[in-house]
Amino acid sequence: MTSAEVLKQRVRVRLAEQRSLVSQLLRLREQIQGSLFARYGECGKENCACREGKKHGPYYVLSTRSAGKGGFAYLDAGRAEEAKALVSRSQEFRTGLRRLRKLNLEIVALLRRYQTAMSKQGGRKIGVALHA
Ligand SMILES: [Zn+2]
Repeated sequence: MTSAEVLKQRVRVRLAEQRSLVSQLLRLREQIQGSLFARYGECGKENCACREGKKHGPYYVLSTRSAGKGGFAYLDAGRAEEAKALVSRSQEFRTGLRRLRKLNLEIVALLRRYQTAMSKQGGRKIGVALHA
């Protein structure tokens, strides 16, 4: 294989990955950008067991940030479970976007090298040595 063919092949491999990555991202629908954590607390009562380390809880807190605004909500265990799945879906989405950005950069870099190789061939065609 010539180096141009190798480059072409590498672009194709990345295009295939890009395509499947995008459809994967489009399948991740409902999601929540935020984080979920469990909180334990002490109450105000003097003789409560929470004073001896047996704290109340867990209280599930969902903290969200969207459009620069932050917020939080307390959730019961059932909704916390759902929220956890939605939060992790959003993380998966972000990871996918990072991968996509990297792939796009790789494709651009490969196409530049391809252009250089093709430009040399163009020069040969008219009998001129071009250094791109
Ligand atoms: Zn207490």
